[in-house]
Amino acid sequence: MTAELSDVPVRELLRIGVGQPVDLAAIDPRSTPGLPGLPVTGPDRKAWARDEVRRLGAGLARQQEMLFAQAVKAPASARRVLLVLQAMDCGGKGGAVKRVAGAMNPLGLHIRAFGAPTAEELDHHFLWRVRRALPAPGYVGVFDRSHYEDVLVVRVDSLVPEDVWRPRYDEINEFEAGLVDDGFVLIKVFLHISYEEQRVRLMSRLTDPTKHWKYHPSDVAARAQWPEYQAAYAEALRRCASDAAPWHVLPADRKWYRDWALAHLLREHFADLELTYPPADFDLRREQARLLSDTSGKRKMNGS
Ligand code: AMP
Ligand code: MG
Repeated sequence: MTAELSDVPVRELLRIGVGQPVDLAAIDPRSTPGLPGLPVTGPDRKAWARDEVRRLGAGLARQQEMLFAQAVKAPASARRVLLVLQAMDCGGKGGAVKRVAGAMNPLGLHIRAFGAPTAEELDHHFLWRVRRALPAPGYVGVFDRSHYEDVLVVRVDSLVPEDVWRPRYDEINEFEAGLVDDGFVLIKVFLHISYEEQRVRLMSRLTDPTKHWKYHPSDVAARAQWPEYQAAYAEALRRCASDAAPWHVLPADRKWYRDWALAHLLREHFADLELTYPPADFDLRREQARLLSDTSGKRKMNGS
């Protein structure tokens, strides 16, 4: 089955223009940018995308291994990747981590979820806990929520006064520019779901006993502030989209598209790094000869 995919990289289709106004209502959460002419529909389309994600996952695992290998051999020059996932409740951050990041080797992943700050975290600057959670060189970091909560929930729930949260856009920009200077590849993604889809997903958390643990009564209170959250997201995306650290809005009502698009985003960013396996830093022939001729271990085992 061949699909007529768009030639335009997914990241360009999803990227927020720097300095442009952001109108989330104009982006359809059920849309599937990059998949204009799939020759299949309905369940077949889903199966096709799932197969693609498996195929792309194998490539991501290889890229991540090369990133890791380069850090083993040349820590000083090693790069690192940080995927920042933001979404409303039920936006699918967990599913995206499981399906897409889950394709990579857990040893090279650094995954961190940000909940309400602890008492200790509240005693510090809002970026303190974020700096401590950054991936080391060679690692792929994933943030399930992030420093953006400090201009989202904090703003919507007035957890601090406006004169405290408003300067944070500039602080975030400065912080992220510093990360990019340090060799981070930042991939910021807003998983965009619709109000209606959130209701369906929240309901399934209430009806399926295996999902009760994911539900919190405050989720309905946050839902009641949907327009305030959308406005806060729009401003965060607009104020904190730069060329070095752009924002992407990923339509996420369709889980299979979400995973497909995220896998492509990661693949495209890895491609920029032009990773290769580091060459041997020892004499290969000599080591092969040593291994073939070495019999001392055997002699010891035989007690001679
Ligand atoms: P979940 O991602 O569903 O586990 O929920 C984590 C919760 O932590 C969400 O309700 C977030 O809004 C909340 N949260 C994350 N960061 C902050 C923050 N900086 N201040 C207050 N609440 C936060
Ligand atoms: Mg939740």
